[in-house]
Amino acid sequence: MSKLKRLLLLGASLCLSLPAACWGFWGHRQINYYAVFLLPPELIAFYKPHITYLSEHAVDPDMRRYLVPAEGPRHYIDIDRYGSYPYPDLPRRWDSAVARYGKDTLEAHGTVPWWVPAMQARLTQAFKEGDAARILKLSAELGHYIGDAHVPLHASSNHNGQKTGQHGIHGLWESRVPELLAREQWSFVIGHAGYIENPSAYIWDRVLESAAAADTVLRLERELSLRYPAQQKVAYEERNGKLTRQYAEGFVRAYDRSMKGMVERRMRAAIYAVASFWYTAWVDAGQPDLKALVKKPPTPEEEAELKRLHEGWRNGAILGRSEEH
Ligand SMILES: [Zn+2]
Repeated sequence: MSKLKRLLLLGASLCLSLPAACWGFWGHRQINYYAVFLLPPELIAFYKPHITYLSEHAVDPDMRRYLVPAEGPRHYIDIDRYGSYPYPDLPRRWDSAVARYGKDTLEAHGTVPWWVPAMQARLTQAFKEGDAARILKLSAELGHYIGDAHVPLHASSNHNGQKTGQHGIHGLWESRVPELLAREQWSFVIGHAGYIENPSAYIWDRVLESAAAADTVLRLERELSLRYPAQQKVAYEERNGKLTRQYAEGFVRAYDRSMKGMVERRMRAAIYAVASFWYTAWVDAGQPDLKALVKKPPTPEEEAELKRLHEGWRNGAILGRSEEH
């Protein structure tokens, strides 16, 4: 075997062993970052100085998947396990859903539409208590789960095309497309956050939109692959000093064109939703004055927890379901 070929194979296997994060780490960071600019003045004065924190910690829930088995289901729902769209038999309330299907089944198929309102309630409580560190931590993490709820393949049991020979489509849609196209073509100027009357109903609507789009996401990739020369679909690129196998740029652009802006629309919808959930938590807490809130430096326990998160992510394998390329 030639040296080049060995290198190529090594690169391919490295890429194949990399876990895909929901929206990719880059996408999650962008969503939380841009959400800050949709907030009203009372909130932006508090959030903006912490924009780097909010952006960097947007990925903590994915890191936690390497340490905590219970974390995995919070990022998705295999909603097609519950009949067909719009899944009228699936209770939107958690306790009713548990009564009907049992907690084990619900957790096996993912819990994101129930987890988002639970996080929202915690954030509202943190605003009531005026706990700046907790407001920021919960805001960053709530942003992550809301972002995941907007990804069509997070609402499908065929989440990585594993049932249809489309392995890798998860990362293609939520990492490769936005990382290539967002900077050069997309706009995240969105307007203002809105008050959400019913956070549970709101996130269920977004999850149902995701579920309805999942078939299109899969079908368009399948159709494009059939008419696209196989050797031009894949390219080898150097990333962080490593040779990795990627979907080729031309293929990524063609796939995005076939979806007519869907990834950008979902990312914009996610940004709007994140800002609106933050804003709603603050309103529901009685619009506390945030000027007096100062974030205290992290306690030794918080620092230790963050260190564990990063080490677990660097060294470990994901616990439970993963969306590997
Ligand atoms: Zn996630």
